[in-house]
Amino acid sequence: MYAEIIAIGSELTCGSKLDTNSQWLSRELESLGWTVTRHTTLSDGMEAIAEEFRAASKRAQVVLVTGGLGPTLDDITREALGFAFDRPLIRDPESIRQIEALFVARGRVMPERNHRQADRPEGSESIPNSCGTAPGVLMKVGLPDGKACLFAAMPGVPAEMRPMYEKQIRPHLMTSGMVLCRKVIRTFGYGESDAERMLGDLTARGQNPEVGITASEAVISLWVTARSKSQEEAEQMCSNTMGLIRERLGDAIYAEDDSELHHVVAVLLDAKNQQMALLESSTTGGLLSLWMTENESLSATVDHAAVIMGDQWLSDLAGLEHWVEDARRLCNGALDANQMNYVLMSSPFKDEVTESGVTIRRGWIAVASRESFETADVSMSGNLAIFRQRAARTALNRLRLLLK
Ligand code: AMP
Ligand code: MG
Repeated sequence: MYAEIIAIGSELTCGSKLDTNSQWLSRELESLGWTVTRHTTLSDGMEAIAEEFRAASKRAQVVLVTGGLGPTLDDITREALGFAFDRPLIRDPESIRQIEALFVARGRVMPERNHRQADRPEGSESIPNSCGTAPGVLMKVGLPDGKACLFAAMPGVPAEMRPMYEKQIRPHLMTSGMVLCRKVIRTFGYGESDAERMLGDLTARGQNPEVGITASEAVISLWVTARSKSQEEAEQMCSNTMGLIRERLGDAIYAEDDSELHHVVAVLLDAKNQQMALLESSTTGGLLSLWMTENESLSATVDHAAVIMGDQWLSDLAGLEHWVEDARRLCNGALDANQMNYVLMSSPFKDEVTESGVTIRRGWIAVASRESFETADVSMSGNLAIFRQRAARTALNRLRLLLK
């Protein structure tokens, strides 16, 4: 069963406000088994809104609309619903009473212009608003093919929209006929297109379960979504696909929940009663230390941490490959003098312009133990924050693989 969300307001299309309602509503709908196929954001214009309502009614069984229910003349969702489906507006006496009561409770007289908030298209239902003056509208639209589409128009203000959805709209949507099961697999160590190649047929569109790939801060997440008539079957389908992904991606998978790499590494260190030290130069710039100080159980896995400014203690930065030798010496020294089991280290970074004019940021990380010393070249072009996140996660990932 398909649902669409339409966010209305010129403040959204001009960029002064972010449409957060659509994201929130999508999550809600998906949790009830609805498949949300479209988000549309429209400015306050009658023709375009009515046209979109008509088009959406042909594609979806449910259309959630937010915004445009205010008292001012620019708010025209009620009129557009009536206009789109040829229904005259009628003024709802019960809504008038509720809006008036709200003004009385605030010690004010209801202004004339608020009367229009009580309008609703004929054949629709007014939805009381417990947090503000704008009632919602619930309207079933019959289509020529005998099917129907349910419109629910809610206020744009998130604090009014959410309780209205939860108390008065959601109960109408409980029976999507489908149950949805969604799981996530977090991976590190290769790019989106590599992931797609390794997963092959699993990521083809229109499959059930569907496997979606998203990339954020150098982490590739795989979202497995299974839809079925029963919870049990949806979960079974999800776990079958998770099994196939595990077979294909193996060690690249570091979590099957929201965990970050540093959480996973801390759990592995803690399980072995081991600790690491962090010696960071500008390639990670203290990011590892920042992450590991998020809470006490993370910090407990760090013996000591230092962010190193400048390069006076490294012999030759002109060729960063010399850094590897310096790093080996420093890590060995640190491991000899201290109790900890591992050292994560990053080099200073250095920008280099290639012949083709591309700037490459050069940097290294190292992961050392008493038995091993590994380095990785984490050079890349582009944004400094992403360079650092990728470098820090590369170091954590190397350690994770050593700890497994
Ligand atoms: P309206 O219901 O159109 O009068 O909207 C009232 C206010 O709610 C707007 O000025 C925005 O601040 C907020 N708002 C409207 N639509 C959204 C949306 N889709 N997401 C987040 N906030 C919104
Ligand atoms: Mg508005």
